[in-house]
Amino acid sequence: MKTPQLGPDDPNPRTRLRNRPVIDRLMYRTALLDNGCWEWRGATNPKGYGNIRRDMDGPAYSVHRVSFEHFHGPIPDGLEVDHLCFNRACVNPDHLEAVDRRTNVLRGRRNQNHGKPTCGRGHDFDAANTSITPDGKRVCKACSRQRTADYRARKAAA
Ligand SMILES: [Zn+2]
Ligand SMILES: [Zn+2]
Repeated sequence: MKTPQLGPDDPNPRTRLRNRPVIDRLMYRTALLDNGCWEWRGATNPKGYGNIRRDMDGPAYSVHRVSFEHFHGPIPDGLEVDHLCFNRACVNPDHLEAVDRRTNVLRGRRNQNHGKPTCGRGHDFDAANTSITPDGKRVCKACSRQRTADYRARKAAA
């Protein structure tokens, strides 16, 4: 997996970027977070999804859809691109999956963490405290650390 290039080595990226492929312009406005999310830092729509134009005078597309298509190929008809990491600004193709609308909605309901800003114990699900498992679940780092500490304490007491 290619990691994002956080800016080409051009002293004047504005002019240089203009004629670059959309994926380059997209990556240029992306920050790599500790949890692996590639977070879009450019323009967003009111729902929090990033927007980018494939052509300078063309319509705007969702950045996560542009990224998905670049890395995984065309999105099959009727499918939506779901964020496994629940970060709407994320464009990491490993955190994106094309699913039908029903799966998308069901998955959102089933996942207790969906949309919640904190874990069950009230720790923030922010970038510093969240890791993403290979199957896309959010894990609270504070709770993981606590579980490890508890285990060690039990072992030491035994
Ligand atoms: Zn992500
Ligand atoms: Zn926690």
